[in-house]
Amino acid sequence: PVVARASDLCKRYGSGENEVVALDHIDVEFRRGQLTAIMGPSGSGKSTLMHCMAGLDTPTSGTVDVEGLEVSSMNQKQLTRLRRKEIGFIFQSFNLVPTLDAEENILLPLQIAKRPIDRDWFRKIVRVVGLENRLDHRPSQLSGGQQQRVACARAMMQRPSVIFADEPTGNLDSRSSREVLGFLKQSVREYGQSIVMVTHDPRAASFADRVLVLADGRITHDMEHPSYESIL
Ligand code: ADP
Ligand code: ADP
Repeated sequence: PVVARASDLCKRYGSGENEVVALDHIDVEFRRGQLTAIMGPSGSGKSTLMHCMAGLDTPTSGTVDVEGLEVSSMNQKQLTRLRRKEIGFIFQSFNLVPTLDAEENILLPLQIAKRPIDRDWFRKIVRVVGLENRLDHRPSQLSGGQQQRVACARAMMQRPSVIFADEPTGNLDSRSSREVLGFLKQSVREYGQSIVMVTHDPRAASFADRVLVLADGRITHDMEHPSYESIL
C-alpha cells in the first residue's frame, strides 16, 4: 500500500531571471515496509522534495498526499495534526533537548501532543535500539550513534506512517551508521513503517530497499534493491 505520494509536484523559488526550479514535475509513491534512499548532488532538490512531502514547504503546483490525505491543501492546524500523528522526523544533527534525558526526549512529542504513552511499545522500541541502560543519560552523556538512536526511538514512538530522515548518518562514524541503518531497516521490516532518507553516502543508500536519484529537480533513477556498485 502507498503511504505517501507526490503527483506532478513542482517547486520554484524566486521569479524571472532569479527563478530556480527545485522540483520539476515529480511523480513518486512511497510504500509501506520500504526503506527508500534519496540521493543526488547538492542542489538537486532532495531537501525540497522531503520538505514538500512532510508539509514543511508548500509546492508551487501539484499535490502531495499522506495516508490518502491531501497535504498540499491543508491549513496550518491540519498540518500540525498530520505531523504529530502520521509523520516522524530524524535529522542529521539529532535535535535532542539537551536538558532532558533519553527517556524524556523519546516521550516528548507525545507529551506535547497530549497523547497517551504506550509503555509496552516504549519498552519494545528501547530494546530494539539498544538503549535500555542509557535511558537516564542526557544527550551530552551519549555518543553520536546513541543520540541518533534516541532520535530514531522518538520518531518511532508516535507510530507514524512515514518517517523522513535528513542525512541521518551524516554526523556518525561508519560503525554507528551501520547500527542506526540496521535499526531503520529492522523497523521497516517488523513494523511496516515507510522510511524515506536523504543521504550522500552510498554505503547508507546500500541499506535501502529502493534508491531514487535526483538531478535538477527530476528523478533520473528509481532502483529497487540496487547493488552497491550501481549506486556509486
Ligand atoms: P542538502 O545538501 O541535503 O541540501 P543541507 O541543506 O543541510 O543539505 O546542506 C547545506 C549545504 O551544505 C548544502 O548546500 C551542501 O552544499 C552542503 N552539504 C550538505 N551535506 C554535505 C555533504 N555530505 N558533503 C558536502 N557538502 C554537503
Ligand atoms: P538538495 O537537498 O538536493 O541539496 P535543495 O532541495 O536544498 O537540494 O535545493 C534545490 C534547489 O532549490 C537548489 O538550487 C537550491 O539552491 C534551491 N533552493 C532551496 N531552498 C531555497 C530557498 N529557500 N530559496 C531559494 N532557493 C532555494
